[in-house]
Amino acid sequence: MKNVTFIGTGYVGLVSGTAISDFGHKVICYDISKEKIKRLKNGEVPIYEPGLEELIKKNTSAGRLFFSNNPKESLANADVIFIAVGTPLGKDGKTDLTYIESAAKIIGDFISTYTVICTKSTVPIGTGKKIIDIINSAKKDRKATFDYISNPEFLREGSAIKDFLWPDRIVIGGNSQVAFDIMKEIYGPLFKNKHEIIYTTIATAEMIKYASNAFLALKISYINEVANLCESLGADIKQVSKAMGQDGRISPKFLHSGPGYGGSCFPKDTEEFAETGRKNGNLIRTIEAAIKTNKYQKRRMVKKIEVLLGGSFESKIIAILGLAFKSNTDDVRESASIEMIESILEKGGYVNAFDPVANDSMKNIFPDIFYKNSWEEACKDADGVVIMTEWNEFRGISLKYLKSLLKAPILLDTRNILPVKKLQDNGFLFDNVGYNQTHEN
Ligand code: NAD
Repeated sequence: MKNVTFIGTGYVGLVSGTAISDFGHKVICYDISKEKIKRLKNGEVPIYEPGLEELIKKNTSAGRLFFSNNPKESLANADVIFIAVGTPLGKDGKTDLTYIESAAKIIGDFISTYTVICTKSTVPIGTGKKIIDIINSAKKDRKATFDYISNPEFLREGSAIKDFLWPDRIVIGGNSQVAFDIMKEIYGPLFKNKHEIIYTTIATAEMIKYASNAFLALKISYINEVANLCESLGADIKQVSKAMGQDGRISPKFLHSGPGYGGSCFPKDTEEFAETGRKNGNLIRTIEAAIKTNKYQKRRMVKKIEVLLGGSFESKIIAILGLAFKSNTDDVRESASIEMIESILEKGGYVNAFDPVANDSMKNIFPDIFYKNSWEEACKDADGVVIMTEWNEFRGISLKYLKSLLKAPILLDTRNILPVKKLQDNGFLFDNVGYNQTHEN
């Protein structure tokens, strides 16, 4: 069994580190955030991810999983160091590599023996080379040697543990057989379950991650445009998606129309991928279009509720149900609800917001809107309601009861989760995304 350290204990680092400790390796999750590590040491889990708390408890109790703010104790004796820090978009629209660079620097500062350095963060194609250079110039201990691996992560928030433990593929990019063998040992239990490991060069591994994410984002933008056309032509996007998805060449995944993709990955990864194309004289026109379509889709949702409200948000209270960018996570980064709330506030409206787990995350962005503890509280005396996230508890909303809470029965369902027939029967003035037909049983 190996000594493994994760630099960065966020959605990816904490889930991957915990899962790898569950394979039997000794894992230290290191982070610069003192508060995060303090909470983890106290048995608190700083993010919402189904199943994570139990897995952390199991592996800390077994003496295999540790948390630390101390770089020396975390890095000096590691066989493998995973870099899992954030790679957000900077203000200039390009990927901000500050966290990656500081992680590479401390690796150089503290490794003391042969170590495999493995990047899990999504980094622009070509970054591997830069990380190697930074480590080499920071390296203090002459005995310290290393091999570099790119090992992009494909987990999805909300089903991250399942995705990590049952991945469709594991991509390992590098140029050292010794390092490949060590990585195979790290992923040993998964390998025994025959999840395919694909060995590539570093640049190919980096490319696979961007090409995959950009493709999924493209698929979402495509189905959103089809949904918008369904609205004009009286077709039903749910039936269109279902029938399309039954074609094995298309697949039903990422084929649901909605308010536009958000989250910490698709928006920044599509921007970076498009920029990579521009910089290298190979415009990726499909992805340029997917980005535009997505921005338009978010604005389109605002327009829809504005129209339902008679053309103005002025002095109106809008209940926003769902703040997370999708269900089963507390992550609100780039969530479509941000644009929705921003526009309502800019145009003189008020927001009652409720999310089953993401109220606190959204308080960092909008400290002054009215956060409520239930959908019922959020809707009480509101002028209209918008469903922004497909939480199961919103699927079961009693429309009769909802109507009795609202000032007026006005509803926008950006996730197409409420039955049109029942909305009509209850006298709602409503809209959704390409689904205004009543074929449902
Ligand atoms: P995150 O923001 O949740 O976590 C990043 C963590 O890194 C934070 O806790 C931060 O304090 C820590 N950090 C920053 N600099 C550090 C340093 N120098 N030393 C130690 N810790 C440091 O980010 P995330 O969502 O886990 O994403 C991490 C990377 O994985 C990104 O590149 C992202 O694109 C990629 N990724 C994310 C997902 C996802 O679903 N979130 C999926 C696949 C890939």
